[in-house]
Amino acid sequence: MYDLIAELYPICRSITGNGVRKTLDIIGKHVPLEIHEVPTGTNVFDWTIPKEWNISDAYIKNSKGEIIVDFKKSNLHILNYSSPVHKKLSLKELQEHIFTLPNQVDVIPYLTTYYKENWGFCMQYNQYKKLPDDEYEVFINSSLKNGSLTYGEFFIKGKTDDEILFTSYVCHPSLCNDNLSGVVLITYLAKLLKNLNLKYSYRFLFIPETIGAITWLSKNVSNLSKIKCGLVATCVGDPGAFTYKKTRNNTSKIDRIVEKVLLDSKVPHKIVNFFPSGSDERQFSSPGFDLHIGSLMRTMYTVFPEYHTSADNLDFVTADSMRESLEQYLKVIFILENDAKYANLVSKCEPQLGKRGLYDAVGGQKKQKIEKMALLWVLNLSDGGNSLLDISIRSGLTFEEIKNAADLLYEKKLLKIID
Ligand code: ZN
Repeated sequence: MYDLIAELYPICRSITGNGVRKTLDIIGKHVPLEIHEVPTGTNVFDWTIPKEWNISDAYIKNSKGEIIVDFKKSNLHILNYSSPVHKKLSLKELQEHIFTLPNQVDVIPYLTTYYKENWGFCMQYNQYKKLPDDEYEVFINSSLKNGSLTYGEFFIKGKTDDEILFTSYVCHPSLCNDNLSGVVLITYLAKLLKNLNLKYSYRFLFIPETIGAITWLSKNVSNLSKIKCGLVATCVGDPGAFTYKKTRNNTSKIDRIVEKVLLDSKVPHKIVNFFPSGSDERQFSSPGFDLHIGSLMRTMYTVFPEYHTSADNLDFVTADSMRESLEQYLKVIFILENDAKYANLVSKCEPQLGKRGLYDAVGGQKKQKIEKMALLWVLNLSDGGNSLLDISIRSGLTFEEIKNAADLLYEKKLLKIID
């Protein structure tokens, strides 16, 4: 996963353009994506697909002809979606088109101008404040033309038509945690799931943030009732603690599952309630759809100082953090796939476990004691009303312990599956 982040890192992406296409091409080597192109000018709910933006070069030169800001060294140097420009201007005129972070003097900020035609450069404040009075040449070799918005989709058909949605956004340029980490995580998730026999169907979206989510929703209205729940994958590559942002109604099944996974994994984490900013969960959870989409992150966007700066680079994300994040996502899928309701077939008093050999499995050691408790919890609460997830939450045992106990009891014909 880290290598794939490194491969995608240099590409200059935006909400439209060849950077997105190239990114989807590379992801397509891992999972066969269906690519969609939606033309400029298409109305998608209250929005319109903008002109397509592409860029090949940009720089600022001083009067000696020396390049002092170079797009080829970092694509963050350009205000993303800048219109083309080539002219000479004074320091004072130039300053109106320069963006810096005076509180983080050594990093290049990431800024965009998608829906307002403008041009600009982003640079380190330290360099900016030393710019001498001079005549500067600015050159941005970009284009804003009728074209299309590109997104990629991958679908795995399961036994049921009910779908689980995983989405991530492919519009950020050279920024690793936000959000190549999320893009790469769901690529690997898709890669791992695609050859399995699954209960649910799984849909993976690789879309530009906001306008891409709005576009996808507008083209898929008639199928949205199939989506049972999902997660937006973002900021999953840094070494910080996990953050789970709950769904809009705060009590969906996916909320209970993710909380249980983080608890069972014993990883440091915090749970935050839904709020209507952030990433694409706000489009999926808009009142007209109200899909149950949460977001499982590590350190949340806007909270880490590297956020939207050149410091969100290949040193900030780690292979270990990516692996640990992928594991949490896989555990979420494990619960989704294995949660079920059972009925205890000997519900009047406890069944005699000894004569079924179940006490052999549960001697006196601590681990085995948990197994015995798991058997008793499953038997007691399998009254038709509780699922294995409910039982695991109420008992405080891990989902896996409860699932193992249920498997054993089912094998011994003490349970039947009811849902
Ligand atoms: Zn971002």
